[in-house]
Amino acid sequence: MDDLNVERTLPGEPTVSPRQRVGFCIACNAIVPIGPDGGCINGHDPGSVHATGEAPVDAEFPVMPRINWGAFLMPPIWGPAHHIWASIFFYPIWLLADTCLRTAAGMGGWRGGLLATAVLIVMGGVEVWFAMTASGPAYARMAGRYSLERYLRRERTWAWAMLPIALAFIALATYYNVAILHVFAGSGA
Ligand SMILES: [Zn+2]
Repeated sequence: MDDLNVERTLPGEPTVSPRQRVGFCIACNAIVPIGPDGGCINGHDPGSVHATGEAPVDAEFPVMPRINWGAFLMPPIWGPAHHIWASIFFYPIWLLADTCLRTAAGMGGWRGGLLATAVLIVMGGVEVWFAMTASGPAYARMAGRYSLERYLRRERTWAWAMLPIALAFIALATYYNVAILHVFAGSGA
């Protein structure tokens, strides 16, 4: 049997397909080759590299998406579940944003509109920033146990699980403000 993929070697020469050391670099947010000093090939120090191993030089690895939708939709649930405990502070931040939006609704007019827009832009910005930066460290923590492929499969499940919870939060907050607090009933003050 002749396999066309078998490398031709001279007698006595070891038959090794070219392999290289790779690892997950938290600064590159990707699986990258590792240099002789243990740092990533793009110049990041060894402390940035997690879960090293060997792989064929032509191996292709899954790419970390730019944004982690589970982290974007429900950061205070997604974060602690991924050992990023500080994201629990999204709850008080949301409460503060809710208060600001209520104030904006009470102000009305262009000033109220401006305040509401500013609050939503800042909140959205913080959440996008979190969703773009948190996934790499979250994976680095479990990179020894999970392949990147398996992690990304798991994260897709997380995103779909967080969507109804996020929608329920928005619906409840809207109901609370409109039906219970009568925010738009015209305080005018
Ligand atoms: Zn790197």
